[in-house]
Amino acid sequence: MDVFSHLASYDYGEVHFRRDPASGMRAIVAIHDTRLGPSLGGCRFLAYAREEEALVDALRLARGMTYKAALAGVPHGGGKSVLLRPAAPVFDRAALFLAFGRFVDALGGRYITAEDSGTGLEDMELIRHETKHVTGVDVKNGGSGDPSSFTALGVRRGIEACAQLKLGRSSLEGLHVAVQGVGHVGYHLCKELAACGAKLSVADVDPLKSERAQREFGADIVPLDHIFEIECDVLAPCALGSAINDETVPRIKAKIVAGAANNQLHEPRHGDDLNQRGILYAPDYAINAGGLINVAQEVVGYNATISRDRTLKIYDTIHEIAERSMSTLTPTYRVADLMVEEKLARAGAPGSKIVSSSR
Ligand code: NAD
Repeated sequence: MDVFSHLASYDYGEVHFRRDPASGMRAIVAIHDTRLGPSLGGCRFLAYAREEEALVDALRLARGMTYKAALAGVPHGGGKSVLLRPAAPVFDRAALFLAFGRFVDALGGRYITAEDSGTGLEDMELIRHETKHVTGVDVKNGGSGDPSSFTALGVRRGIEACAQLKLGRSSLEGLHVAVQGVGHVGYHLCKELAACGAKLSVADVDPLKSERAQREFGADIVPLDHIFEIECDVLAPCALGSAINDETVPRIKAKIVAGAANNQLHEPRHGDDLNQRGILYAPDYAINAGGLINVAQEVVGYNATISRDRTLKIYDTIHEIAERSMSTLTPTYRVADLMVEEKLARAGAPGSKIVSSSR
């Protein structure tokens, strides 16, 4: 594997590897940028067919965190870690996460970890035994709990900004929103939108989740594939990545695409396609930052009111992106990237600030 070529292609200066012989832990911590503060980002615990895939996953995701934190005004850089899940069916999970906690601690606050795919509250509690540089711990231990409701709040605010600019509507009353995926965030988003008087259509591969949205919020259930093409005002992708692709773009009838899912554009050019079709796209990492805002609050002493107030400001971020997009005829995904790149450039040259958390 050509490690330094991978680092160069994702703009990196710093990646840490650790193997713990006693537990069998093998982990990677990718620190993308610390110009705006110590790096913060989740730990993935997944099985990878090849080690190179684990490295690329960490590099790609940490870079995304730099952009998300910068745009959200959170004083952190982008980091992400991967703990490689052992191939053996039986392994000592606690030993792995304790060893991972020691790895994070040895980085001295340059990287703060959190939950991600394959990890949960119990894992964060194990890590907490070994280091203070961990978030997403139990509420009773000063943690911030499940971030989904904050993410959904931010998405609702982003939808409000889009509806104001694109449809001239100052309220969500009667707005028709099609939500793809009503899991953690999608459920809370439906709750937010229903409280504002929006009309909902939902689709989920798990019928129990759609039925819950129908029961609690009066949502219409639509077939999975039909969710992209129903006549509605807003399409809110809240399931997996790549929802916006060659196959779906031509079918979208909504004037706005604004949802929680990460990596909604299969490729950047799909953001251009939406723009050409006159569909306002709220860039995913800008609109779904509520969970990050909430978890970052934990680093300085958790306060739900502050998290909420900061998440409400996602309205302003989406509004600014959409306005700049309209005035410069630039697709919104590109405007968001430019706003981040301007902010990072003002903070100095890449690699010029090595910052640690003083937690
Ligand atoms: P989740 O797993 O709880 O929910 C996803 C839902 O999508 C599930 O109910 C699943 O059944 C459904 N789904 C999967 N494939 C589908 C398909 N093809 N069509 C319709 N439904 C489908 O996950 P979540 O935590 O709600 O996160 C949703 C998305 O938002 C993910 O992309 C995640 O990365 C992103 N996100 C989540 C948070 C957060 O706070 N949880 C923060 C930022 C971004």
